[in-house]
Amino acid sequence: MNEKELEFGLDPDAILDSHKSFFEQGGTRSIALRILYLQRLKQALKKYEAEWFAALRKDLNKSDFESYTTELGIVLSEIGFISSRLTGWAKPRKVRTALTHVGSKSLITKEPYGTVLIIAPWNYPLQLALSPLVGAIAAGNTVVLKPSELTPNVSALLKQILGEVFPADYVTVVEGGPEVSNALLARKFDYIFFTGSVGVGKIVMEAAAKHLTPVTLELGGKSPCIVHDDANLRLAARRIVFGKFTNAGQTCIAPDYVLVHRNIRDRLLTELKAELARFYGGDPLNNPAYGRIVGQRQFDRLMSFLQDGKIVVGGEADRDKLKISPTILTDVHWGMPVMQEEIFGPLLPVLVYDELQEVIEWVRKRPKPLALYLFTGNRKVQRTVTHELSFGGGTINDTLMHIATPYLPFGGVGESGMGSYHGHESFRTFTHEKSIVKQTTLFDFSFRYAFSKRGLSIIRR
Ligand code: NAD
Repeated sequence: MNEKELEFGLDPDAILDSHKSFFEQGGTRSIALRILYLQRLKQALKKYEAEWFAALRKDLNKSDFESYTTELGIVLSEIGFISSRLTGWAKPRKVRTALTHVGSKSLITKEPYGTVLIIAPWNYPLQLALSPLVGAIAAGNTVVLKPSELTPNVSALLKQILGEVFPADYVTVVEGGPEVSNALLARKFDYIFFTGSVGVGKIVMEAAAKHLTPVTLELGGKSPCIVHDDANLRLAARRIVFGKFTNAGQTCIAPDYVLVHRNIRDRLLTELKAELARFYGGDPLNNPAYGRIVGQRQFDRLMSFLQDGKIVVGGEADRDKLKISPTILTDVHWGMPVMQEEIFGPLLPVLVYDELQEVIEWVRKRPKPLALYLFTGNRKVQRTVTHELSFGGGTINDTLMHIATPYLPFGGVGESGMGSYHGHESFRTFTHEKSIVKQTTLFDFSFRYAFSKRGLSIIRR
């Protein structure tokens, strides 16, 4: 431990040593025990529901409804889904034997990596810390969790509750900012699971490369939302408003901007305005169900985007309350800052296209997005967009919904990340598949060896 680390009271080597010995003594081996701990976590999440809601309200002004549907409820259902299937997933899998291996048996066994480092962001501070943790525990790892310093109430609660559920050398929560992340990243973990920005993702991958530690990177980017000329506009508007302005736009897979066919732009804008009024009323800044921006730096960054384009709805802001009303922008172009950076806030630029091919070319020129949304009933358009564009995942005729099912792996591609999780994929992510051949000792094929040209020899006992 160096002097700086002592300053913030962290001893990463001691944490890692205690985890290693817990793991090596078989503390995570029993599947029944893993399920028991997951159930204990589930009970604790329920028992402290009011405290979670209060912490999420303080950190991000999330409503109880949003806190349940986008945070707590997702983790609870992930625990249920994984616990009920874990025994089957963890069994060794017998596979066929190649002709060259006659007499032997082949199996794939499921081995935990060891100690996993999870670094989490602030925007869904409960879900994005605990969903990967559930996968890592299910697969038999120990976990060191570093939640975000920008949501201190949720981070403190994570530390308290995980401390009540798990022994300290099984799960450890380490609070702090980048300096704490870096002190942890300098050590050799067995797996690193990072959720956050593209820039920090690169720092994480560089640190992991020094120890050849495998990583999952859940990153961000600008996710397009395409509205084609045949779309059901009322439904599209409602689902875009839902996806964009939940958590005040601070959602990694929120539609970042809309690309709408020129013929229907004005009708879509009218529908979007109507849906915004229905969701948040005439005074969203004072609506308790509407989230706030996480901090002043992020607030100022978002406000600077409003210097460009034309505001057709919203644009009001309150710096003391860290609130920006849901805002729709037109007359923007790709050269403006709002179209160059991931927005990550309640501002929705709307751009027009004439031909679908323009959309394909625009999106292809940019980093591969984490999500993509397409509103159309036209199967040919659906096929063209999903076949010709690369993106992490997406939803047709809705937004966000592909993240909320345990049957679909969730993750990015290219600059939006690598690896995926949720449901079975979480178990697979945190598991090393170890291949084993059990060879027969009843006979031996001598022709395998350079010294002999004879065929089969029987082994005498
Ligand atoms: P961030 O990258 O700033 O921070 C994420 C974590 O990394 C935090 O715990 C933070 O303390 C730590 N960190 C920050 N700077 C660091 C540094 N220099 N060195 C080491 N660690 C550092 O991200 P954020 O602001 O918390 O979250 C917003 C970003 O995360 C957006 O880009 C968003 O799209 C992305 N995101 C992605 C997903 C996903 O599932 N793919 C989910 C949520 C957020």
